[in-house]
Amino acid sequence: MQQIVPNVYTFTGLIMGRVYLLQDDEGLTIVDSGMSGAGEKILAQLQAAGHQPTNVKRILLTHVHPDHVGGLKPLHEATGAEVWCHPKEKPVMEGDIPVPGKPDGLRFPTPSVVPVPVSHTTAEGDTLPVLGGLQVIDTPGHAPGHISFWQPEQRLLIVGDVIFNVFNRMTLPLPMATVDMEENKRSVKKLQGLQPQMMLFGHGPVVVGQASARLDAFIQRLGL
Ligand SMILES: [Zn+2]
Repeated sequence: MQQIVPNVYTFTGLIMGRVYLLQDDEGLTIVDSGMSGAGEKILAQLQAAGHQPTNVKRILLTHVHPDHVGGLKPLHEATGAEVWCHPKEKPVMEGDIPVPGKPDGLRFPTPSVVPVPVSHTTAEGDTLPVLGGLQVIDTPGHAPGHISFWQPEQRLLIVGDVIFNVFNRMTLPLPMATVDMEENKRSVKKLQGLQPQMMLFGHGPVVVGQASARLDAFIQRLGL
């Protein structure tokens, strides 16, 4: 586990899909859960940092793709934490419908998600009791119910897969795994308006300072 800034950490050694830990007086919140096999690594790193699994109060999901919820079941069982996602992602998480794909795009093998019950749904307009107030932002496109999380005082933005940061360069998510790229681009543009200081991605290293300048340059490159 590696600290990004005080009270914000990322788990290390996961094969794919970044997972974050947010810590405040009320307990621990985890964002996403990585690939299958990540759950055990996350639990080991929590324990090594002196946390009990039951200190984890909630697990927030940016969206339900196999590289973001693969580790959820063991994590959920060990922690008993609440699971939160957007209403459109809930039936995917609970195994009622397959992961939505593009007609000509990547088909995730079925079943690609081990079902876990969702305790709460959340969407734009909600502020979660995390880090003193974590706002939910609807950012559909990559997945129909993709959400991002925004902490306005720290100007901290958790973008999930709306934007990748691979080879230290912001890019759009993988087209074949993105349901509606035009809609995703509108979500990118929407996030630009927040002018984040810090950005945490589902794929790639975090940007800790002056993220908005990097985001502006990316959007210019896209011609949006
Ligand atoms: Zn994804």
